[in-house]
Amino acid sequence: MPVYLDNAATTRPCEPAVSAVFQCMVEDYGNPSSLHKLGITAEQHIENARKSIAAALVCDPQCITFTSGATECNNTAILGAAENYGKRKKKIVVSAIEHPSVAEPIKFLEEKRGFEVVRVKPSRNGAISEEDFIAAVDENTFLVSCMMVNNETGAIQPVRKIFSYVKRNFPECITHCDAVQAFMKIPIRSAELFADIIVVSGHKVHAVKGVGAMFVKKGIRIPPLLLGGGQERGKRSGTESVPLIAGFGAAVRALMPTMPVAHENAETISAYLLKKLAKLDYVTVNSAAENRSPYITNFSVEGIRSEIMLHFLESKDVYVSSGSACSKGAHSSVLTAMSIPDRLADSAIRVSIGRTTTMGEIDVLVNAVQEGYQKLAKQK
Ligand code: PMP
Repeated sequence: MPVYLDNAATTRPCEPAVSAVFQCMVEDYGNPSSLHKLGITAEQHIENARKSIAAALVCDPQCITFTSGATECNNTAILGAAENYGKRKKKIVVSAIEHPSVAEPIKFLEEKRGFEVVRVKPSRNGAISEEDFIAAVDENTFLVSCMMVNNETGAIQPVRKIFSYVKRNFPECITHCDAVQAFMKIPIRSAELFADIIVVSGHKVHAVKGVGAMFVKKGIRIPPLLLGGGQERGKRSGTESVPLIAGFGAAVRALMPTMPVAHENAETISAYLLKKLAKLDYVTVNSAAENRSPYITNFSVEGIRSEIMLHFLESKDVYVSSGSACSKGAHSSVLTAMSIPDRLADSAIRVSIGRTTTMGEIDVLVNAVQEGYQKLAKQK
């Protein structure tokens, strides 16, 4: 049996999600815009899913728009906010550790559209200081963006504190939160977060790849990225992927009620992993001990490059990631922003546990890391 410890990259779809996808492919295959019975059934699948995602974020279902994934949501949010709210005000404040689907559209606005961007660096523990972030926000700022949980280190960011300050002092400034690694892991209540936009993704929560959702607060106008048939109340044109959306809804309905139990289990497993890693003097844990999602642990194995260790572990049927799966082996900008020395960044491994991870699997991982170190260090 493979030991899959790369759940921050993607998760295995759960049975209810797979069944819902199957149902919408083989039986309820109508176009939700069609006026006949098959169309109406398809539309009901979408509205059910909308209600489920809204319940998980504690918001009105009308505030939820489905897209092809978090990358599309983040692009829509950032480029749309710039179009509507960035005419007079020209400044964006963002954390320096965002996922590329946030960092890149912001870089585009900076380089191609003349916006001013302030990137707030984290401290050595991977968390942004709310004081540093707040100090960068001023009258000219129309957009602030901060993720909730970092995808490489698991560091939980002080989003609520930052956004509540911003909304109190600059109520017109748009607050955007990429909550992909937090959704269904830690509670998110949209109103209490002071967020105008919250982005989540299906395949990180045991649904299928290619579907995401964004919460956009009532009254916030984000123009669509895609123009066409006016689906999703004009916010995202294109025939909805009913199977993927229905699968997303089914996964949320099935797993949301057990979020607290799963979190407790993740904490136990994470503590066990840290205890075992602490015994290896050639391992440095890059993730902070506190204020961290227990689902993600980042550590470095002295002197062994990430990819080399990753492939050794793969040969033992253990699957982890080097930094983040999205950066495909490139130097991690997140670890660099945390001022982690190159020597450690080059040997970083991200272990992201899931709902079914067991202590036995952690034993397999740690034994494989030990074996890998002994073998690979000798070859140098
Ligand atoms: N944001 C974060 C924090 C992520 O971890 C990911 C997935 N790696 C994304 C956005 C992009 O999500 P999607 O794959 O749905 O486009």
